[in-house]
Order: sequence, then structure tokens, then C-alpha cells
Amino acid sequence: MESERAYDVQLMLEEILEKLSMPHVINSRLICMRSKNASANAYARIWSLPAIWRNALEINPFYIIEVVSENYDSLEQEEKKKILIHELLHIPKKFTGGLVPHKNRGEKIDDRLVNKIYKKYLAACEASREQDAGSGGF
Ligand SMILES: [Zn+2]
Repeated sequence: MESERAYDVQLMLEEILEKLSMPHVINSRLICMRSKNASANAYARIWSLPAIWRNALEINPFYIIEVVSENYDSLEQEEKKKILIHELLHIPKKFTGGLVPHKNRGEKIDDRLVNKIYKKYLAACEASREQDAGSGGF
């Protein structure tokens, strides 16, 4: 498997975070990577650093969102964004370094939840477009 920084994914993620209110996600400690030949079925995965490593290295929690090039790259923008939203939902509200499982006590991380959040994202995009249109009337 090869991997490299995925700046396009990072930009998309930042744009999503700007529109959605997810203040618990610390942008600078969320790194996007793209892997090739990963032999993974998934479109993307999220990685955390085990607590023992964080303690040993004396570093704060970090997360990596890895997109699997062969599966992710050919998707439509909308699907890509939904996949990133799905991965973001695995980050706990306290940014502890752990991961939220798909079946949590609270809301399940599934397509229904992702679609709900994606709609919020679209509404926020719409709202900021209207704002731009309103302020730019020379
Ligand atoms: Zn998941």
C-alpha cells in the first residue's frame, strides 16, 4: 500500500466543517491521506492513534481520514462529501482520540444520519450563497 497527503480531500473536508457546526473537530489535528493498492473494500477509513502511543509520544489526539483511491476517486462530489461526513461522525464530541462505533448509545452512524447531516450542509451552502448575493449588489 502507498499513501500520500490528500490536499483535495483536506480542502473538501474544511469546506464541510465550515458549513456544519462541528466545533469539536480540531482541523489542524485531522489529516487526510490517499492510499493506493490498499486492498480495502471501503471508500474511506478513519484512523486514530492508540492511547498508549499518544501517552508514550506525549502528543495530543490526531485523526487520519484515509480515502482509498481506487474506490473513492471516481465518485461524484456528493458521494465524496457524504463519505467524509460519515468519517467525521466517528470522531467523538470531546476529540478524545478514540472512535465512535457505528452502533452507539446515541444515534447510529448510518446512511440515514449521514443524509440528514448532508441536508443540513446543503442548507448552509444555500444560506451562504444568499448572503453573498445580498452583499454583492453594486
Ligand atoms: Zn464508519
